[in-house]
Amino acid sequence: MQRSTKIVATLGPATNDPAILSRLIAAGVNVVRLNFSHGSADDHIARAQMVREAAAQIGQPVAVMVDLQGPKIRVGKFEKNKVTLENGQNFILDAACEMGNQDRVGLDYKELPNDVSEGSVLLLDDGRIVLDVLNVQGSAIHTRVRVGGVLSNNKGINRQGGGLSAPALTAKDMEDIKVAAKLDADYVAVSFPKSSADMYMARTLIQAAGSKAQVVAKIERTEAIANLEELIDASDVIMVARGDLAVEVGDAAVPALQKRMIRLAREKNKLTITATQMMESMITSPVPTRAEVSDVANAVLDGTDAVMLSAETAAGKFPIETVEAMARVCIEAEKSSDYRIDRDFLSREFTRVDQSIAMAALFTANHLQVKAIVALTQTGATALWTSRVNCGVPIYALTPEVATYRRLSLYRDVYPMMLAHDCDQKSLLTSAELKLLEQGLVQPGDLMVVTVGDTVGQMGSTNTMKIVRVAQR
Ligand code: PEP
Repeated sequence: MQRSTKIVATLGPATNDPAILSRLIAAGVNVVRLNFSHGSADDHIARAQMVREAAAQIGQPVAVMVDLQGPKIRVGKFEKNKVTLENGQNFILDAACEMGNQDRVGLDYKELPNDVSEGSVLLLDDGRIVLDVLNVQGSAIHTRVRVGGVLSNNKGINRQGGGLSAPALTAKDMEDIKVAAKLDADYVAVSFPKSSADMYMARTLIQAAGSKAQVVAKIERTEAIANLEELIDASDVIMVARGDLAVEVGDAAVPALQKRMIRLAREKNKLTITATQMMESMITSPVPTRAEVSDVANAVLDGTDAVMLSAETAAGKFPIETVEAMARVCIEAEKSSDYRIDRDFLSREFTRVDQSIAMAALFTANHLQVKAIVALTQTGATALWTSRVNCGVPIYALTPEVATYRRLSLYRDVYPMMLAHDCDQKSLLTSAELKLLEQGLVQPGDLMVVTVGDTVGQMGSTNTMKIVRVAQR
């Protein structure tokens, strides 16, 4: 059964066994995420290799997304690895402290004393611990514990409302971009970008490293919400990174922001991944909660391109069951009549010939009973444009380019396939038709809308929309 919404799965210790990884891909993973916050460059290169081998064996396209660590805004270590903070006690975060105790702890992020002042609220360990800043004396931030609990080594720090000056791309990220190029990543995700400048910088470094990877902006800072439009414009994909975002803007604000981000990205012909805690309970349980089922289904109804799994597949006990459950929920949600998103695309503006052809294909698919949209594409651009408005018709993207084939596996409603484009247009149309027939995706007599260029094999040359009735053979 075809599933339009794509699944991103994070790899980790639970997927190191090649047999498990193959089962995970066969269960429906479209994109794997390599989390560069953990593991060495060699681990990631070996994992990417394993993914490519498994995907080739199964005959399914799988894209690789490198997720850069970004700035480490964390406390240091404790003498006894952790302390328990009581409500109302004083506690110091001190950039000069070497080893923490019950009264104070050091900081990995030495700039923090410059970024806060009296009245700032600091959220530690994903917001589980809340500290009110009383004052700052040199390297020491004096705080009072508003909400206490156990604080252990290297837990993350967020400032409520944002305002931390840490740059998005660290020296480690710059080295890791070279690793991403080496393992031929299809996507590189930038953690904690604040503005388009961070994304331009990442894209420049990625290209300088010789990579063609597309860039993903993780929207997880308060500043990123203020600069959302320019961040979307500067990126190929945005990730609704609900973990850190909820800490910075408050958890209750996130659902509405998710809807806004997905809508805006679609309008701007960009892609979205909805991430974090989607199937969290399945880290230890073989079935999801009702709330998790609703969360995944709602992201599908919002129009996300992909839903993402983090610890559920990286370190969970039931990685395969989690992917299977997520796939099942997506397929069911896609059947809903509320799933048709943004059919009013007539007001959209476009300037390119190939984009006009893509829009013509969409218009036709919306008004004629067609079984398939077929994009004969080098770069995937026509598949992107046709997929930004859901018309309930599958888009088969037939490409001779391996990089396009893999990259398109993230796009909602798009089913990438490899097809050589080394013949004239007439023969290409025939081989496309035969390929879909062979796979049982169309039947003789069905109508298909095909986009193609006069100059076969040339990028950006799509200038023709053809309505084809599948021949009896
Ligand atoms: C998030 O914060 O939601 C997220 C996806 O980022 P990470 O898992 O890298 O912290």
